[in-house]
Amino acid sequence: MSKHGDAQGGASKAIRSEKVVAEELPAPDYPRYRVGPGNRTSLAAIDPDETEHYRKKKDVVKELEKQRRRIQDLQERLYAENEQGLLIVLQAMDTGGKDGTIKHVFGGVNPQGCRVSSFKTPSAEEANHDFLWRYHKSAPAKGRIGIFNRSHYEDVLVVRVKNLIPEEVWRERYELINDFERGLTANGITVLKFFLHISKDEQKKRLQSRLDNPDKRWKFSSNDIKERAFWEAYQQAFEDALGNCSTEHAPWYVVPANKKWYRNLVVARTIADTLEAMDPRYPPAEEGLEKVKIPD
Ligand code: AMP
Ligand code: MG
Repeated sequence: MSKHGDAQGGASKAIRSEKVVAEELPAPDYPRYRVGPGNRTSLAAIDPDETEHYRKKKDVVKELEKQRRRIQDLQERLYAENEQGLLIVLQAMDTGGKDGTIKHVFGGVNPQGCRVSSFKTPSAEEANHDFLWRYHKSAPAKGRIGIFNRSHYEDVLVVRVKNLIPEEVWRERYELINDFERGLTANGITVLKFFLHISKDEQKKRLQSRLDNPDKRWKFSSNDIKERAFWEAYQQAFEDALGNCSTEHAPWYVVPANKKWYRNLVVARTIADTLEAMDPRYPPAEEGLEKVKIPD
């Protein structure tokens, strides 16, 4: 049954407003960055420099603006409808561009319907709970978009690479994560996950530029250099996480992210397409409002 089926009472009377984007969706087809359920992912086989036929940032400025407007419009509908939510998970190697993606893709979205949750090393209280506790608390409500800047995936990534917990514990988490995400989708929360894929060279450039630019130095942590030494182990951990946890209901996308402008375009377009497929609608207005005049 579709979510606008009769089972939802008044929803079947919802006003079918005109499509957000009237014309055909533009090529290219970003589902090609989607990891198929059960597929082994080889990150080395995915070119982080990919930009299709685009050459420079200015080639995508208009297109990115169009996708941002689609997101803004669809988010207003999602909020008004208050029946479904969207969880966006962002993961990457250090300097991979999670913060920049949030800034550039969501810059124009109404803050009332959107919340960013950033996850750091768990606090003592968080560490005393089951690993999903802090993420579940931050999951979006109906009508909302939730953005996870790092996520429950850290609990199969950093904990594995840094040997923080035994293998039998983190290995079981793939299934626990799939069940958690399945539970969200069963309750009307669509789950969309992006791995921002940069090369090791690009990370070197970005870390160096954080050091060289006084306004960016605050972003640099000496720990970043230590983490960089584990590059290969992280890539392996990401491949396993993507392979085990890209499902029909909660897909992973590997986004070529060496070029920030291309990364923003792919993420924005994928979010807009996903929101459009969710088809949020303004709720029906009270009957007869067109005749109402506000009295003096
Ligand atoms: P940043 O995003 O640069 O502020 O760094 C956040 C740090 O928190 C990173 O080093 C992550 O590896 C770490 N972190 C995030 N989630 C977890 C977790 N579940 N367990 C251990 N460390 C984590
Ligand atoms: Mg950092």
